[in-house]
Amino acid sequence: MGTGHQLRLYNSLGRRLEDFVPSASVTGVYSCGPTVYGFPHLGNMRAYVFADTLRRALRWKGIDVRHVINITDVGHAVADTDTGEDKLEVAAARERRSVDDIAAFYTGAFMNDVEALNILPAHEYPRASAFVGQMIEFAAKLEAGGFTYRLPSGLYVDTSKSPGYGALAQIDVEGQREAAGVEQAEGRRRKTDFALWRAEQPGQRRVMRWDSPWGPGAPGWHLECSVMSIALLGPHFDIHTGGVDHRELHHVNEIAQSEAYLGDGKPWVRYWLHNEFLQLGDEKMAKSAGGAPRLADITDAGYHPMAYRLFLLGGHYRSQLRFSTAGLDAAQATLRRLASRIQLRPLPPAETLTAAVSHAGGDTAAARMLDQIDEAIASDLATPRILAVLQDALRDPALSLNGRRAVIAAADSLLGLGLAALQPRQVDSRPAASGLSPEQLHVIERLIAERSQARNARDWARADEIRDELDRLSVIVTDTPNGSIWELR
Ligand code: AMP
Ligand code: ZN
Repeated sequence: MGTGHQLRLYNSLGRRLEDFVPSASVTGVYSCGPTVYGFPHLGNMRAYVFADTLRRALRWKGIDVRHVINITDVGHAVADTDTGEDKLEVAAARERRSVDDIAAFYTGAFMNDVEALNILPAHEYPRASAFVGQMIEFAAKLEAGGFTYRLPSGLYVDTSKSPGYGALAQIDVEGQREAAGVEQAEGRRRKTDFALWRAEQPGQRRVMRWDSPWGPGAPGWHLECSVMSIALLGPHFDIHTGGVDHRELHHVNEIAQSEAYLGDGKPWVRYWLHNEFLQLGDEKMAKSAGGAPRLADITDAGYHPMAYRLFLLGGHYRSQLRFSTAGLDAAQATLRRLASRIQLRPLPPAETLTAAVSHAGGDTAAARMLDQIDEAIASDLATPRILAVLQDALRDPALSLNGRRAVIAAADSLLGLGLAALQPRQVDSRPAASGLSPEQLHVIERLIAERSQARNARDWARADEIRDELDRLSVIVTDTPNGSIWELR
């Protein structure tokens, strides 16, 4: 099978599917990170499960990656404006804690979710506040190059100096369409011009403030991503990711300032990938809207974190996905079924196409399924299709034992559901069934399954008989709309 299907990704720059060809021996990937002023909600985490799927796809193709996710602990103003208050400062005042405490606490919360969702850790998580010196140098170079102008409220990029400004967003600059969500700073020449530096206003004193050639103040939000990505991945790198909201403003401005800074006439980053929103009702799930659930809310309600991951991967990353408990229930049921059917552990390592193919041996049915998996991931990360192949692999009688193991392991390495280690009893949250041997567990799971069958067949006598048997084993069974769960007495 060789290297399989050519990896194709949808590039927001140009809005088309393109072959992905790495430009260096290590592919640099930068993902806009969380603003750590509150708990990340489930929608935020969609952005990182998506970036993780990309990581896994590149690994599958044998491409080495260096991944950077920044931590925005300064610069992101309320409502994405240039002149508003910093989100971190507002949170610190609200919670009566220091800005450092707020940043450390919510960075920890983000990292917990990253781990719980089985997201491969990034190689670096730079904090914006540690790069302010470099941001000032970056802005000074733009000023020296004539790309900026000063206002009492700070230093602004003159976007009329950027050829192709707004190409990513496909903004009609001639028509001066207002960039989403940007208010007017006094004296700004164009609606699209944006702040590199937000100077303190008379009578104002920011908590987070640095001295600069433009007076004491704080950096603009867009600046940090340009500076940190260039510092950690080099002047040009291959892939930049974020939620689709960033395509219209934040990334447009990152491109304008970075290309002005580099001045080499080359596109700064070659591929721009954006995930669609997780919706709550008909709206984008958003912190500011309130009521946006976070991972802990659903795990407290008994859902496994991997049920949420599975729910996300059941949709394509470029499709809007509506959050619902019905959707989560279905994902939890599928996860439970997957975990109970995979009795072929240990699974072999199959992180790359090459490894998976070699584990499949000469099994032609497995080779065909691996090819389907490869084709799906190469088609702009079509995870729903990989899930379908995984389900087939659990049933198809044509597969040899090793072939089935190889296909399951391959799908799992791309989906990141951690199936190799997931036991059905872990899917429903309840106290760990400690001290049971694998044989005992097997007996219990078999009885639970038989009882479900009996109940489905309305054979209540048999179902009760099995319940008694489980009772003798100290197992308590509870029936829920999602199936039966059990715990030890
Ligand atoms: P923030 O913490 O607000 O800076 O956002 C972190 C990431 O989450 C960014 O890439 C956003 O584009 C993304 N994001 C925010 N809301 C949603 C949503 N409802 N669905 C998917 N991604 C989102
Ligand atoms: Zn960014």
